[in-house]
Amino acid sequence: MKSILNVVAAAVLATAFTTPVLAQDKGTVGIAMPTKSSARWISDGNSMVEQFNAAGYATDLQYAEDDIPNQLAQIENMITKGADALVIAAIDGTTLSNVLANANAAGIKVIAYDRLIRESEHVDYYATFDNFKVGVQQANTLVAGLEERFPDVSPWNVELFGGSPDDNNAYFFYNGAMSVLQPLIDSGKVNIASGQMGMDTVGTLRWDGSVAQARMDNLLSANYTDDRVHGVLSPYDGLSIGIISSLKGVGYGSGDLKMPIVSGQDAEIPSVKAMLRGEQYSTIFKDTRELARVTVGMVDAVLGGAEPEINDTTTYDNGVKIVPSYLLEPIPVTSANWEKALIDSGYYTMDQIK
Ligand code: BGC
Repeated sequence: MKSILNVVAAAVLATAFTTPVLAQDKGTVGIAMPTKSSARWISDGNSMVEQFNAAGYATDLQYAEDDIPNQLAQIENMITKGADALVIAAIDGTTLSNVLANANAAGIKVIAYDRLIRESEHVDYYATFDNFKVGVQQANTLVAGLEERFPDVSPWNVELFGGSPDDNNAYFFYNGAMSVLQPLIDSGKVNIASGQMGMDTVGTLRWDGSVAQARMDNLLSANYTDDRVHGVLSPYDGLSIGIISSLKGVGYGSGDLKMPIVSGQDAEIPSVKAMLRGEQYSTIFKDTRELARVTVGMVDAVLGGAEPEINDTTTYDNGVKIVPSYLLEPIPVTSANWEKALIDSGYYTMDQIK
């Protein structure tokens, strides 16, 4: 008997010494990200895994490559595997009602990450940036660039691009930008030569850069054979790169055909490089480490039975309820402040850019 006890004790001891103490014992967080095709979502995912682990949570991070059924299956799987909370950046913000009803039935808390989840009551909180302000900043940098590069031109010919119509953010970006541009259009200072306006006309499904490039090709051939385009409102760096390729394809940026002012968003590396080459004028930096921090804080509070910190209870009506939100500050970036914003903050190293 004694020897059996010794064996058992030895086995217990051995396990105690060989099994690492589980630091991630506060639960599991399922993290559903839209795609790896844009670097920002990779940063978001990495920052969240790091910060959730440090806070004592295990994570299940999945990317759906912009395929809606794929994302739904990934979330169902997280529910089945017993996640305690879900953090979701939706591909299409309107398609999650059923899966979130299942999450709710299983008692799982849900945070909408960066993009609002619409048409569901089962969204507990929303962590994002001030999306209307992003649009305002995009248009402000566009106008500042037009003043700088084309001071003697009037009116400025501008074309407008919107984000994906299934992403609630796209409307906030567009409306924010138009709050700056519409008065200039009304006063005749800005001319939309194609006449194409409104999200239903200028939206870019799935934020696809090649779709934006093809539309820019068409805009140029239909409207700018005699006249020049001076500015392009682009809501996302991936679209800006496509738009810039189209512009360069017909000679902008060489000879006396100055590159139009092109805006952007996310401070992605190819766009920072394009800014330093003088091709893209601006981007908007949204520090994904900060968004991860806010999100981890929300999950930690909610699972611990506390109230998360929120700073907006009026803006984000998802069609069923107003989702309590925390909005972070976006930062406009041009070649004048990129180093301070992106390198000094430790977001990128100089090697990544130069
Ligand atoms: C995000 C932007 C991003 C866009 C395309 C939006 O929902 O807020 O930061 O540029 O999706 O990925």
